[in-house]
Amino acid sequence: MPRSPGYLQHVEYTGSELTFSGVKLVEIARHTGTPVYIYSGDALLNSLREFQDALAAVDHLICFAVKSNSNIAILKLLGKAGAGLDLVSGGELYRARQAGVAGPAIVFSGVGKTKDEIAQALTYADSGIFSFNVESAAELETINSVARELGRKAAIALRFNPDVDAKTHPYVSTGLKKNKFGVHRSEILEIARRLNEFDRIALKGISIHIGSQLVSLGPLGDAFGRVTNLCEEVNQILGNPLSFIDLGGGLGIQYGNKKAPSIRSYCSLVLKHFGPGTAFSRRNSPFRILIEPGRVLAGNSGVLVTELLYRKRRAKKEFLIVDSGMNDLIRPALYGSHHELLPLKKVSGPRTKYDIVGPVCETSDCFAQARSLPTRIQPGDLIAILSAGAYGFSMASNYNSRPRPPEVLIENGRFRVIRDREKYEDLLRGERV
Ligand SMILES: *Cc1c(COP(=O)(O)O)cnc(C)c1O
Repeated sequence: MPRSPGYLQHVEYTGSELTFSGVKLVEIARHTGTPVYIYSGDALLNSLREFQDALAAVDHLICFAVKSNSNIAILKLLGKAGAGLDLVSGGELYRARQAGVAGPAIVFSGVGKTKDEIAQALTYADSGIFSFNVESAAELETINSVARELGRKAAIALRFNPDVDAKTHPYVSTGLKKNKFGVHRSEILEIARRLNEFDRIALKGISIHIGSQLVSLGPLGDAFGRVTNLCEEVNQILGNPLSFIDLGGGLGIQYGNKKAPSIRSYCSLVLKHFGPGTAFSRRNSPFRILIEPGRVLAGNSGVLVTELLYRKRRAKKEFLIVDSGMNDLIRPALYGSHHELLPLKKVSGPRTKYDIVGPVCETSDCFAQARSLPTRIQPGDLIAILSAGAYGFSMASNYNSRPRPPEVLIENGRFRVIRDREKYEDLLRGERV
């Protein structure tokens, strides 16, 4: 039987009601109002388990990319199930602490770490984090001096820019020479040669991350090959092998028609390059593989439910105006990305093509153009915007002074609010007249 597309794996109609992991979405919407983000703990844990099972043959750590969905209930759920975290800011480090995730399960990425953030990571839960993914020689010097001031040693990986084209949206492509990310091969070798100048640095690994929403494994395979060669060169300079490699995140998901590789095939590619029996694993043992998936864990584990407010006819088209906007979910406006839309109550009969737009004062505030929905859909009806679990709430803003929506987590057939809807007072927090 063909697998249903990722966005439908936990979403289905039971009778005429749309359910998510077995819970009727309308029940949640009635409880919280709309718009509302709803996540499925089962969907998250299933995806995590797929990675864990597929990588069981190697020592591994799956570091969830916190920026994709940073709610502390989500971080706690994944942490308890054995995941680590990949962070890009001090704020995310603070979230990790509130979620009770241990330092040895945390890596810190990002091109612009401040001294304060570095100090916080070095002293996280006293013993510090697992590793910094270092993005420049200048950053290495800063980490070295902060570590010296604190009387610590910093474990690091150098983030390698492998100069491969990830063939994804230019805004989320990160592995090209011209991008701001990572360090080029020659500079990594140079740093390895002068490593003794950095008395507080332990160079333990190499990391990469070539982009997001990758729907082809080819560029990843190229990058993995290049990273293998680089590890060999670095090992020769160091005289003792590196102890881990961090392969980053980026595996895409299916939002619409365009298919994405499965977690299993991605993991097969990882094992083909670094797994048992490879030349790499013979030369580098013991060795640990880290990965940093975000979207592929969270994306199809969340939906955004919105209410249809108005229908509005123009000469050539018809608009559906909903109560959620680009401030809640910016992906369509920012990347022109596709999200499937399903009414919470199945409506039969003919269909019409609509533009589904939000209330924000921008023409880009549009969730879908010329999208086929039931002709009889009426104001007051609820619509689920699928695949909204990653880069949804975490990119939400208060633009147009719109309070951000609540977040709800479904676990074991029950749901609970894991973030309240913001109030008008929240909008003014910190402001003075
Ligand atoms: C954003 C990011 C990720 C996660 O990317 P996904 O496409 O969500 O898997 C992983 N690592 C780094 C360094 C990132 O910046």
